[in-house]
Amino acid sequence: MSLDPTLLAAGLPALGHICLVGAGPGAADLLTLRAVKRLAEADVVFYDRLVEPEVVALAGPQADKVFVGKEVGLHSWPQEKIDAAIVAAALSGKRVVRLKSGDPSVFGRACEEIEAARAAGIPAEIVPGVTAASAAAAQMLRPLTERGLTDRLVIATATCRPGEAPQRLSTSLTPGTTLALYMAMHRLHLIRDELLADGIPAETAVEIVSGAETRRQKMLATTLATVCEDVTAAKVGNPAIVFIRIPKPALQTALAEGTVAAC
Ligand code: SAH
Repeated sequence: MSLDPTLLAAGLPALGHICLVGAGPGAADLLTLRAVKRLAEADVVFYDRLVEPEVVALAGPQADKVFVGKEVGLHSWPQEKIDAAIVAAALSGKRVVRLKSGDPSVFGRACEEIEAARAAGIPAEIVPGVTAASAAAAQMLRPLTERGLTDRLVIATATCRPGEAPQRLSTSLTPGTTLALYMAMHRLHLIRDELLADGIPAETAVEIVSGAETRRQKMLATTLATVCEDVTAAKVGNPAIVFIRIPKPALQTALAEGTVAAC
């Protein structure tokens, strides 16, 4: 990046650039061309735990690669520390890539980092990535919306900030909905119990894809009634997307009778 000579003459810090890059769910060939370009040009890359090594490796040899995720037995960097580090690197004139799993705009804490860049007067950018729900649906070869069956896609997290009450998921599950749940595995028992108590049928289809687009990928198709037992038996763990689908009632009947096809 060329530096503004008037800024240098005024003795102000040279400004770099902060780019929040979507690393996608795992496989490096799911990155956008723009993401690959930003990585190749980066001076420093700060990356998360869920970013696969093959994606980090797309950064050039000149780039410092800084892991800010959680090591086994240790804590991840607090958000404020990450904000301060990316700002400090950019203020020293570096091209900073903040590499985040999936799409930085989906449960990626992008707001804090954009705000930190803005407050420091640093140009910022988001390069979108393939979010886990898209990758998981693709791996199942089952679209997120199915014409006439589900015409509403809800992306939600089952995790909330400390002190916040978790949202009641059944309110999202109106007929015709695909619910894609992020960060849900550790609360699966509670989610199942709550949905059953709220009248969601026990035979409702639940599909889980863990480690989508990684070598650890697993897929499970089950029902709300048996999801917890099946997850344990199949050893399906984090990270995972949990899909819960409530088709439109008229179509459910027609499908059962075989008078229409699903796609
Ligand atoms: N920004 C990311 C989401 C980060 S939150 C995105 O757009 O995908 C972390 C959660 O994302 C995980 O707990 C899990 O629910 C989901 N996730 C991330 N990578 C995944 C993968 N490869 N397969 C399935 N789920 C994944």
